[in-house]
Amino acid sequence: MEAKHWRYYYEKMLKEAPLVIYYPTCGGGEECLYVCPNKDRVWEMVPMKVTLFGFKEEVRMRPFMAHPENCARCFLCMEACPTGALKPSSDPPKHPYLDLFVNTIKLFFKKRYGWRWVLRKEHIEKFKKNNNLT
Ligand code: SF4
Repeated sequence: MEAKHWRYYYEKMLKEAPLVIYYPTCGGGEECLYVCPNKDRVWEMVPMKVTLFGFKEEVRMRPFMAHPENCARCFLCMEACPTGALKPSSDPPKHPYLDLFVNTIKLFFKKRYGWRWVLRKEHIEKFKKNNNLT
């Protein structure tokens, strides 16, 4: 089956989930999944056509909230997202590339979920795998 475009999953989360991901600014490091207390009951990694930060559209693996009914609305995933791609559906991203810039700078100052955390081995491995870099 052919992979769908990221907009399909974006629109679906916007309608059905408490959170939405602007996929072109999601790096695919799975930081959100690592902190989610209900990870396996909420998220699925799915193949979709998407760029990486605006470059080279191809099929990449990205998180999709397949079971929003199991989300505890703790928003830990949003806190852990290094790029600002993950937002509440009630307040979806308006300037995603500006969010990406601001969130990248913020990583230098964050005590929790800063650069050191983002650069952990497991996140780098997921980033490579989900972006076809392995
Ligand atoms: S809000 Fe909490 S429970 Fe829901 S997906 Fe994010 S981390 Fe998981």
